[in-house]
Amino acid sequence: MTAGTTDQADGSGVLQASGGIIEVRCPADGRIVGRVPDLGAAGVQAAAKQLRAAQPAWEALGPEGRAKHMRNFLDWILDNEANLVGIMQEESGKSWGDAALEVSMAVDLINYYSGHAAEFLADRKVPSWGASGLTKKLRVFARPHQLVGMITPWNGPLGGPMLDGVAALMAGAAVLFKPSEVTPLTWAEATRGWLEDLGAPPVLANVTGGPEAGAAVVDEVDMIMFTGSTRTGRKIAARAGERLIPCSLELGGKDPMVVLSDADIDRASSAAAWGGMWNSGQICISVERVYVEAPVYDEFVAKVTDKVKNLRQGMDPDGSFTTDIGAMCTPAQLDIVEKHVNDAVAKGARVLTGGKRAEDGQFFEPTVLVDVDHSMLCMRDETFGPTLPIMKVDSEQEAVRLANDSRYGLSASVWSRSRSRADRIARQIEAGAVNVNNVMMSTFQLTIPMSGWKESGVGSRSGGAAGMLKFCRQQSVVSERIHLRSEPHWYPYVPKKSELQAKMVRFLGAHDWRRRLGRTPKR
Ligand code: NAD
Repeated sequence: MTAGTTDQADGSGVLQASGGIIEVRCPADGRIVGRVPDLGAAGVQAAAKQLRAAQPAWEALGPEGRAKHMRNFLDWILDNEANLVGIMQEESGKSWGDAALEVSMAVDLINYYSGHAAEFLADRKVPSWGASGLTKKLRVFARPHQLVGMITPWNGPLGGPMLDGVAALMAGAAVLFKPSEVTPLTWAEATRGWLEDLGAPPVLANVTGGPEAGAAVVDEVDMIMFTGSTRTGRKIAARAGERLIPCSLELGGKDPMVVLSDADIDRASSAAAWGGMWNSGQICISVERVYVEAPVYDEFVAKVTDKVKNLRQGMDPDGSFTTDIGAMCTPAQLDIVEKHVNDAVAKGARVLTGGKRAEDGQFFEPTVLVDVDHSMLCMRDETFGPTLPIMKVDSEQEAVRLANDSRYGLSASVWSRSRSRADRIARQIEAGAVNVNNVMMSTFQLTIPMSGWKESGVGSRSGGAAGMLKFCRQQSVVSERIHLRSEPHWYPYVPKKSELQAKMVRFLGAHDWRRRLGRTPKR
């Protein structure tokens, strides 16, 4: 970030910066590929004011009205696909293939939430219960939080904001986005498309900036949705607690892959290569550690090493799909990966392929490590890089024990040809999602919840209606089915009426005849 001032518009509708410019560099070659203003707390406050002013009309459009805008946005994304993927690639150093997957996420999210919003947000009729509910009609209305804040990390410049942003907007909220200062360009362009090219209602703002702007977002909004590190998540939860606003946290992970002796090793080894290396391992749900039962260990290690060795690394030309794996997004993340690999080797691990950073660009070679154990950083802390540490285990019990020996609990995978065996393991794993004979897929199933257990998060995203209702306040509405001049429990208390009521409570509520009839117990 360099000092300076700017009056550059960034598509957020907020024109003045608080005094800094963020330079964005391509991790593959160090080129400056863009600049955005650091809008700071003042930018956040100005954006919040504008968003609050625009939200009531957006809510009044109803789900179908909002869906029209959202589908226009989908059309715009598809029409601008190459440009968006290109920006994403330049600011993150991803391979074209890795970056392109974020567009398919965006399309899926918009179609799902715009297609289901009317159903998810419909007034819910609830049956009454008990004597007091006999004459009552019960409903629950879903009323959006007016302003939702969304703070996102650098690993998914388009997919990150879309994952929760589409649901919140379709719920009728206005959304103040604060993308990562490392990769702010893609979402700035998407926001520009929404506001300028489409002329859609100004209910989303992209406020660029660093931690200070992020902290200001938590201070301004009615609900905060945070995706990022556990370290920052704790700070956000503490501030949300002080302000008494709801917060939803999607944090770090250390996902285990458990390969049992009856697994399809060809498929499992391909999944490990993709699940460990996708986006250079910079995804919360990547395969971070592997436990393989002894009978298939050698075969698995040989196959996965061969597949990882053959991955093509580099930032490929636009639209060419000629590399598999790109760069590390930040120098700090590259350092962490190197530290984890060096720590493992110093403690006795062997590198079967990869193992070091490239001389040019922020690349770390796709790496397979064996002879690892839980004294090593690579098995305990989030690496968030292209490494696959593999450990041999003697039994499924040992695999489960090691898989659960972690402060994280985001997701996991279990590999077995036996459905009952896989389910048995899944039920013992301490993680919010388990993929059986697959990796990472749970996150892309919008009908099931993604919830981080332990230090991986608070609350959940997706999960059908729940993924949208989390951005709403539930309003219970009780109305009268029949018109009574008074209720039996209202004033004045009159002996006969009150005694009759007490008898009714006994008669209807007690579980035996003595108590129902109010008889005293025999001594
Ligand atoms: P980070 O926590 O450093 O930053 C995330 C965002 O928080 C950035 O926009 C940053 O500017 C902002 N921020 C930093 N300090 C803040 C503060 N005090 N108050 C408010 N905002 C603040 O995370 P990162 O390094 O950008 O991303 C990597 C992490 O994100 C990894 O741990 C990864 O596992 C996690 N992640 C989780 C998920 C998930 O869904 N569970 C998805 C992607 C990434």
